[in-house]
Amino acid sequence: QVRVRFAPSPTGNLHVGGARTALFNYLFARSKAGKFVLRIEDTDLERSTRESEEAVLRDLSWLGLDWDEGPGVGGEYGPYRQSERNSLYKQHAQKLLDSGYVYRCFCSNQVFGVLRQVSSCLDCGVGCSGETVDHHLLHCFVAAEVWSFVFHSFGVAWVLLGCVVDLFVWVEEMVCSYHCYLQELEKMKEIAKLNQLPPVYSGKWATATDEEVQEEVEKGTPYTYRFRVPKEGSLKINDLIRGEVSWNLDTLGDFVIMRSNGQPVYNFCVTVDDATMAISHVIRAEEHLPNTLRQALIYKALGFPMPSFAHVSLILAPDRSKLSKRHGATSVGQFREMGYLPQAMVNYLALLGWGDGTENEFFTLEQLVEKFSIGRVNKSGAIFDSTKLRWMNGQHLRALPSEELTKLIGERWKSTSILTESEGTFIQEAVQLLKDGIDLITDADKALSNLLSYPLEATLKSPEAKPVLEDKLSEFSADLIAAYDSGELLGALEEGHAGWQKWVKNFGKSLKRKGKSLFMPLRVLLTGKLHGPDMGASVLLLHRAETCGGVAPEAG
Ligand code: GLU
Repeated sequence: QVRVRFAPSPTGNLHVGGARTALFNYLFARSKAGKFVLRIEDTDLERSTRESEEAVLRDLSWLGLDWDEGPGVGGEYGPYRQSERNSLYKQHAQKLLDSGYVYRCFCSNQVFGVLRQVSSCLDCGVGCSGETVDHHLLHCFVAAEVWSFVFHSFGVAWVLLGCVVDLFVWVEEMVCSYHCYLQELEKMKEIAKLNQLPPVYSGKWATATDEEVQEEVEKGTPYTYRFRVPKEGSLKINDLIRGEVSWNLDTLGDFVIMRSNGQPVYNFCVTVDDATMAISHVIRAEEHLPNTLRQALIYKALGFPMPSFAHVSLILAPDRSKLSKRHGATSVGQFREMGYLPQAMVNYLALLGWGDGTENEFFTLEQLVEKFSIGRVNKSGAIFDSTKLRWMNGQHLRALPSEELTKLIGERWKSTSILTESEGTFIQEAVQLLKDGIDLITDADKALSNLLSYPLEATLKSPEAKPVLEDKLSEFSADLIAAYDSGELLGALEEGHAGWQKWVKNFGKSLKRKGKSLFMPLRVLLTGKLHGPDMGASVLLLHRAETCGGVAPEAG
């Protein structure tokens, strides 16, 4: 059975990139009659918050991406928060230790946590030069030592004497451990030089004897669990989007899976979770590719079947840099507040890297489920084009059933006091009249105010008005005023659209005008504007607004 997961870290809002990953997982699950699991990756306790988790869940629900298992829903593979799965990680770490895939590493303690920092720094493989590592090490080393000394010296009751004794002990320890660390570092550098690679952890404790290990354990020296990476060979996966991806193992170095405080490391948690939640396909962002290598090694060591992987490319800004806040709105919540529809967001996100192979770009969520195939996901970066998203929102807005659109916009107008009170049909007619000119729900406010305003003076001063004015507008308006004063025009308007059409025709006949020479001056005089939506509907609506008194004064 297909089982996929979306695994957000609740450290902020749901970004469009995350939402797209969630969507692809959802579409894949639904198109394969599989399960879509939601797992909260909150191992980073300092940065994870419940508010952020709730916001992510709310955004996913808003998009319509309902999950089959996860927070709020439960499921047989729970708990679905990493912070609640600690015993599982411990159990699997022990399994790896027992089978020899992992060893205890005491290095970190030897130099008061310094080496651990460095080895994780080296593990990231960003190629720290010897010099900066040295510098960094020395800095950490001195800081750690000073703190250790301060603690030792002032925390103990027999302060003075203790200080002197401590000072001697401390100096001796420091000299000794600094010496150890220098040797270790030299070894790392040598290996690195030999292989022309950035230095990797030398695996000092990988080859320690049982006695050596036992000795440290008895001394109570804290240790990490370090994964024994094969020193040669390669590892490859068949990515469903990128094809074959392979890594040489000699550059990796043994990595930590559990810290000395017993806290499991991210890559280890993810692997244990995916394996024990029986995840069949891991679909996630491309930036996780380096993690996949470590995770694949852990999979093998734990003896779990490897899932299929699909790494989705990044979402880029129009300048092809990584999409970030400086490019404008990037979180799903921001778009919701700006008046975007979830249907449009989902449709647009799906098109970031996917297409059904035709020209068609308009899809509902159901249609996407029907058409989606992971094989059609593009491996190059997709550009986030907010203009296109806006356009797409307009398409979805107009595709809504008329009552739904009326309700949505009507509620908005009432809540923003554009309309004080108004009978339903006024809103309905106004929405029908204005919907072609808007892309966002929020655009409707301006469109209505605009319709109801009468900027005659500004209109007549515009260069566009010149030909209309030259067309003897004064004679025209005299006739129009006469039609108004006699009650003929208002009478016609009371009869609705048919009445209006009949009146216009007769009015044109009496003036011997038709087409543009009739409609342009009429529009200017009746609406105060040169352009706008259908004139008959506009005039009827203006008349309704005046007679029902349902329009807020500032809008009229
Ligand atoms: N928690 C990770 C993130 O938010 C996702 C990890 C994964 O999908 O494997 O980027």
